[in-house]
Amino acid sequence: MTTPLVEMDGDEMTRILWKMIKDELILPFVELKTEYYDLGLPERDKTEDKITVASAEATKKYGVAVKCATITPNHQRMDEYKLHQMWKSPNGTIRSILDGTVFRTPIIIPSIKPAVKNWELPITIARHAYGDVYKSVEIRADEPGVARLVFDGESGKHQEVVIQNFKGAGVLQGMHNTDKSIRSFAHSCFKFAIDSRQDLWFSTKDTISKTYDAQFKSIFAEVYEEYKAQFEELGLSYFYTLIDDAVARVIRSKGGFIWACKNYDGDVMSDMVSTAFGSLAMMTSVLVSPDGKYEYEAAHGTVTRHYYKYLAGEETSTNPMATIFAWSGALRKRGELDGLSALVNYADQLEAACFDTLNEGIVTKDLVNLMEGITPKAVTSAEFIAAIRERLARKLA
Ligand code: NAP
Ligand code: MG
Repeated sequence: MTTPLVEMDGDEMTRILWKMIKDELILPFVELKTEYYDLGLPERDKTEDKITVASAEATKKYGVAVKCATITPNHQRMDEYKLHQMWKSPNGTIRSILDGTVFRTPIIIPSIKPAVKNWELPITIARHAYGDVYKSVEIRADEPGVARLVFDGESGKHQEVVIQNFKGAGVLQGMHNTDKSIRSFAHSCFKFAIDSRQDLWFSTKDTISKTYDAQFKSIFAEVYEEYKAQFEELGLSYFYTLIDDAVARVIRSKGGFIWACKNYDGDVMSDMVSTAFGSLAMMTSVLVSPDGKYEYEAAHGTVTRHYYKYLAGEETSTNPMATIFAWSGALRKRGELDGLSALVNYADQLEAACFDTLNEGIVTKDLVNLMEGITPKAVTSAEFIAAIRERLARKLA
């Protein structure tokens, strides 16, 4: 390796898996070069969360990061870890510094059939992570009256429309988005489509929302012009359609594309798509910034329930697949950027060794009941990783 990978360590069971993956699957095969940031909750508390900001800044500098799952503190965690403050979600902090979009993709294998039988390839959901209902303000109107939407520009320009003449009680909501955020979202989507060689779909409800959603549609169309030549060269397409039409087409499709969604649509549709593909433990996630910085991680959390079993001395069968794929994704990207074909090959072989292991029926407990046409054998995390190592060593020999 020439450029270091930004390594963000994390919490609980995934922190245990992190070390196992490094010791068994990476360090024996790669002359690993990382800049290490410990985002485990004790270190975040000790550094007043400066470590999280530093890790995001390092990602801006080097371009590629790999992140372990981390605890987002709540009241119970405050007591458990004797925290000085209820620190914000590290993912939220990193996302806002990188101004990025999260792409979630399932890892699929032949013996786990998606609930939608014609899906053959993964569907990646890109969720816009700013604004709309998530940054809205609301009023409960408890008597008749007039609701207005008002904008006072700095220039003195005044715009005003009546929302509703309430004859009785009701509710109202004001939401917003910004051209800047929508444009960043569009850049991240087009970049990721080119990067992963997949078509890009985007959907809103611009026939009903003729100003708000229409602005999303036109910014995407405008930004597409910058990527059009590259899309055409690669034989990729950008496809805009209405959200309800998109839902129907997604269900009838074979998969194998990226579906960019507005914030709320992405929230809802990512849970539907990931559940239909099988297991949260098999879902990968990558944050892509509009200027092409990448942070790879698993979509699941720190698997707390398994961690307490581990602390009690029990062997756990936690699925490391998504965390391994975060590493392989990050190392492949580093290899591509630095022109290191051996590193790219290593990432490919690591993933192939994982697939071989699963396809031979050696699996963690969470997958046992999902598999068809094969008799799976449930093993512990350590045994599963050892089985991958054996196959990886053969491939790289
Ligand atoms: P979680 O860690 O994803 O686990 C929820 C349940 O899903 C687990 O109890 C387990 O089910 C199953 N599961 C998830 N990943 C698995 C894996 N790799 N192998 C096997 N089973 C797996 O979510 P959570 O319990 O809601 O959250 C735990 C902590 O993670 C919280 O502190 C939260 O803040 C944090 N979190 C972090 C991130 C992130 O860093 N990106 C994301 C989400 C949550 P069974 O118990 O039935 O086996
Ligand atoms: Mg949700």
